[in-house]
Amino acid sequence: MAVALQEYKRIIEELNTQHIRLVAVSKIKPVSDILELYNAGHLDFGENYVQELLEKQKALPANIRWHFIGHLQTNKVKQIVPFVHLIHGVDSLKLLKEINKEAGKNGRIVQVLLQMHIAQEETKFGLDEMELNEILAQLDPLDHILIKGLMGMASFTEDISVVEKEFSHLKSVYDKLSAIQHPVLQIDTLSMGMSNDYPLAIKNGSNMVRIGSLLFGRR
Ligand SMILES: *Cc1c(COP(=O)(O)O)cnc(C)c1O
Repeated sequence: MAVALQEYKRIIEELNTQHIRLVAVSKIKPVSDILELYNAGHLDFGENYVQELLEKQKALPANIRWHFIGHLQTNKVKQIVPFVHLIHGVDSLKLLKEINKEAGKNGRIVQVLLQMHIAQEETKFGLDEMELNEILAQLDPLDHILIKGLMGMASFTEDISVVEKEFSHLKSVYDKLSAIQHPVLQIDTLSMGMSNDYPLAIKNGSNMVRIGSLLFGRR
């Protein structure tokens, strides 16, 4: 399956005019597909699995900005911290502390997004607002982390009103977070929207979308 370069150009133009960033989600897709999009000028790629990310990172150009968008286990943090650009799925203080520790060892400040649970489905990871506030109360020792914003996934449903409600809820939490002053917070990124719902996400305030199948074909 070839990369949908026409579709990419259409999407990236649409996004650029609105200053929305695109993470091309390349999980399960071969290095050759990533290289094709890279050669078209794209630098931001998202991966879900640590082992796969490590192999691709070694095989591909060093200026690619790797986004980790999967569920990150604490014991795998140290493998991606040396090079990762943005970790989207952070949903516990334990994970934040581990990233902070490994970032310190590497002399890096690692950028992360906190993942909020916005969908009705039980299976999705993420924080509720109370858990978010608990984390925000304990940021002081995290001197090798920058929290850039929030990430969320809407319910997988045809019901547009449900998806829209979830996205607008996440935007309201994001706006509240943006108003808080703290050295660990540098809030400018709201990562929401995938192939099937990104226009709705943008309509509700997203400024970073994560798109896979529209660009690389079905997985
Ligand atoms: C796979 C994945 C995507 C991309 O999904 P598509 O429907 O292929 O666009 C986006 N975000 C996360 C967290 C994913 O796991």
